[in-house]
Amino acid sequence: SQPVTIIGAGLAGTEAAHQLARRGIAVRLFEMRPNVDTDVHKTSDFAELVCSNSLRSDDPFHPVGLIKREMAGWDSLVIRAARASSVPAGSALAVDRERFSQVITEAMNENPLIEIVREEVAAIPDGPTILAAGPLCSDALSKDLYRFVGDDALYFYDAIAPVVEYDSLNLDVVFFQSRYNKGGGADYLNIPLDEEAYLEFHRSVVTGERVVPKKHEKMIFFEGCLPIEVMADRGVDTLRFGPMKPVGLVDPRTGRQPYAVIQLRQDNFARSHWNLVGFQTQLKWGEQKRILSALPGMEKARFVRYGMIHRNTYVDSSKHLKPTLQFRKRHDLFLAGQISGVEGYVESAASGLMAAIQMSRFLARKPMVPFPATTAMGALAHYVSFEGHDKLNPVNINFGIMAPLVHNRRMKKKERRLEYVRRAVRDMNTFAAEMEQQPFEMPDYET
Ligand code: FAD
Repeated sequence: SQPVTIIGAGLAGTEAAHQLARRGIAVRLFEMRPNVDTDVHKTSDFAELVCSNSLRSDDPFHPVGLIKREMAGWDSLVIRAARASSVPAGSALAVDRERFSQVITEAMNENPLIEIVREEVAAIPDGPTILAAGPLCSDALSKDLYRFVGDDALYFYDAIAPVVEYDSLNLDVVFFQSRYNKGGGADYLNIPLDEEAYLEFHRSVVTGERVVPKKHEKMIFFEGCLPIEVMADRGVDTLRFGPMKPVGLVDPRTGRQPYAVIQLRQDNFARSHWNLVGFQTQLKWGEQKRILSALPGMEKARFVRYGMIHRNTYVDSSKHLKPTLQFRKRHDLFLAGQISGVEGYVESAASGLMAAIQMSRFLARKPMVPFPATTAMGALAHYVSFEGHDKLNPVNINFGIMAPLVHNRRMKKKERRLEYVRRAVRDMNTFAAEMEQQPFEMPDYET
């Protein structure tokens, strides 16, 4: 039978290819890099992490920890690659970005059912297709997609945080410590700021020169990933209560909690690259160097990469998709990843996973059943395809988009989370059985 076309070998596309091949279905995986570049990707590897190296919380009671467990239950390649390339990051799952992409690229290259085509797809093809071209979908394909959906694709701006070299930092000032000594207790580097240094930093950020987008459009940012200057504009303390919060940290030089802190997270296995956590920015590169080098311990910082912003395109799936991630008007065409209105690396991969499972059902002419809205994965599919949205706003997975708990009993936060997780595990297993998937064991949530 005809192979499935997958457009884009990113987080969603590679996960989808893996899932289809696992079910014996042949795939043609199109990736335009390195022939056509995006403004943000730096390599020609598959599943490149374009900004942070963190896949966020690994706590099973956190929604993004739960979704990782659900995905692992479906033998997710992205989660497997992340575990195989993890670096210390307290209670988060962070990875060596090169190793992570290598594991996935090799898995694609070595799979006999996956044919890799290094070409740009300029128009939506006929035949069974998963479109997973990401937020930086090429211009030609974006135009064809706009035409197909009727020109109501949306956008927002996303920003990237800078990365610095470890041996350019002054470790007499910058200190190792995790917040509240979580994880190993010393996974993060911290730049401590006193009140005067913080206020000076805030002034520089507010007045620093910024990059203006080429297209004349309003800069709309994703709330979960605001650039530091946008936060700084909101008020003098916004950063100090956001990415620069000092809670749970003690400066060994003073024995006290600093007034504000910038945390750095290990970015590669070699520990030579460290990224400034939550410090995505649209300041001009020269300004970044000037302002960040004025911070204590950063005087001689060498930058591996500066922060930058990029337009992020997505489709208003609430008008076009079924909860099975099929287009309502073309059932053999599926949309997956960030372009479908989910937000984040893990969410994009989860969406690719679901699209592939649904595609395999579609090809086998089996009844189409969406993932349950009571599971973290299913909640994403239901959220993006929910017809009641005025306008779809991309979201990270959170308990708020999962089907509400039915009983009204008042519960403490911890108990409520446990309820969400228990129900997700139970319903995912029932669903897996319906999908003729081997029942899988979920990890122990009771501890
Ligand atoms: P991608 O991983 O981008 O994969 C799409 C692939 O399709 C790419 O490899 C691309 O080259 C290819 N492609 C595009 N058009 C074509 C075509 N016509 N033909 C063939 N191939 C094509 N999420 C986080 O969780 N943490 C972050 O820190 C983070 N930072 C971000 C920063 C920026 C600037 C942006 C834009 C997004 C960021 N995201 C972040 C959001 C999102 O998680 C990532 O964009 C993620 O990579 C999305 O996965 P995807 O599979 O949908 O797309």
